[in-house]
Amino acid sequence: MENATSQTKTQAAMPFDIGGIKFAAVRATQPRPHWRVRLEETGEVFEPGTGGISNESVPKMKADIQYLLDRISKGDTSDFRRRFGLPPTPASESTCVECGATDADMVGCPDGAEICRDCFGAGRH
Ligand SMILES: [Zn+2]
Repeated sequence: MENATSQTKTQAAMPFDIGGIKFAAVRATQPRPHWRVRLEETGEVFEPGTGGISNESVPKMKADIQYLLDRISKGDTSDFRRRFGLPPTPASESTCVECGATDADMVGCPDGAEICRDCFGAGRH
């Protein structure tokens, strides 16, 4: 396995979800074997040591991220998301505040609410 092709092969990834954020633990072998956190929404892979998150094992990594959510963000998932450089709510989970539609085209209102195009057209917000 010590050849050039093993470098470019996709490494094993262990997906997990904390506070509504999708992460994956990705195996890195250089300079020595460790795990890195990948943020699935952006594809960003954090350098070892970022946020004090463990690179030793996946259970420790998850425990450290859970700690950030529980103790640092006090369970506030919006705050938690901001710490990872993400918008307070996932873009893919827009919900119309008027009718609850989630898969429609959304229109942002001046007050920050999002409504679907149907409700916008009907002047419901
Ligand atoms: Zn709607």
